[in-house]
Amino acid sequence: MIKLEQIHKSFGTLHVLKGIDLTIERGKTAVIIGPSGSGKTTLLRCLNLLEVPDTGTITLGSETIEFSADKQLKTSAVAGFRQQTGMVFQNYNLFPHLTAIQNVMEGQLTVKGIAKAEARKYAAAQLEKVGLADKADMYPHQLSGGQQQRVGIARAMAMDPDVLLFDEPTSALDPELVGEVLKVMKNLANEGMTMVIVTHEMQFARDAADLVIFMDEGAVIEAGTPEEVFDRTKNARTLQFLNKVQ
Ligand code: ATP
Repeated sequence: MIKLEQIHKSFGTLHVLKGIDLTIERGKTAVIIGPSGSGKTTLLRCLNLLEVPDTGTITLGSETIEFSADKQLKTSAVAGFRQQTGMVFQNYNLFPHLTAIQNVMEGQLTVKGIAKAEARKYAAAQLEKVGLADKADMYPHQLSGGQQQRVGIARAMAMDPDVLLFDEPTSALDPELVGEVLKVMKNLANEGMTMVIVTHEMQFARDAADLVIFMDEGAVIEAGTPEEVFDRTKNARTLQFLNKVQ
C-alpha cells in the first residue's frame, strides 16, 4: 500500500504540492491527470525520493518516512523506498553505449550484486515480457522510441520493485508508437502490478486505471474510479479540464 499524508513540497517560493493525502492499494493502477504545472511529476518523484517532500508522511509497504525541515533522512529509509520503486522516465534514460539486454541487466549487477549469468537470464525474461526478445543485442539508437521505452519498462521490472512509477511514458513518442507501450503497461496492470502513472493519455486512464487522481494547482481535487471522474464528476475544475483534453 502507498499512503501519503499531508505532503507539502516547495521549490524556493513556489509551493508545488499543497497537502496531498492519498492512498493507493496494492495491485492497483493509479493514473494521475491534471493540467500542466499542477504538480503531477513532482508528486510521482516524491514516491521514490527523487524529490524530497518538505513535510508530511509517506508509507510505502512496511516503510514509513516522516518528513520535516529539521530532520535528516535516514539512509536506510531512502534505500528502502528506492528498492521498492522502479521508475520509467519520459525520455527512457537508457545508457547509449549498452545494448538492450545490458541496460536491463545493469541494475541487477551494480545495485543488487547478482551474478552476470543469472542477471542475463532474468533480463532476457523481462525483455520477452515486453515483446523484445529479438532485440536484446541492439543498441538504443537501433531501436524505435517505442522499443526503447519498452526496454525502459523491462529495466524497471528487472529490479523486482513493489511499485512501478511512470512519468509521462509516452509523451516523447510519435503517435503511432504510443499504443505498443500502453499495451505493455496494460498487461502489467492485468498481472496485478502496483503502478502509479502520470499521463496525458485519457483513453488509457479510462481503460486501465483502477483509480484516477485529478490534480490541480498542487492539490488532489478528486480521486475515484474512471467512471466517477470521467463520467459522473460534478466538480467544476475537473469538468473544465476534461472539456479541454477530451
Ligand atoms: P506537466 O504536465 O507539464 O509535466 P506537472 O503537473 O507534472 O506538469 P510538475 O512537473 O510537477 O508539474 O511541476 C510543477 C511546478 O513545479 C511547475 O511550475 C514547475 O516549473 C515547478 N518545478 C518542478 N520541478 C522543479 C525544480 N526542480 N525546481 C524548480 N521548480 C520546479
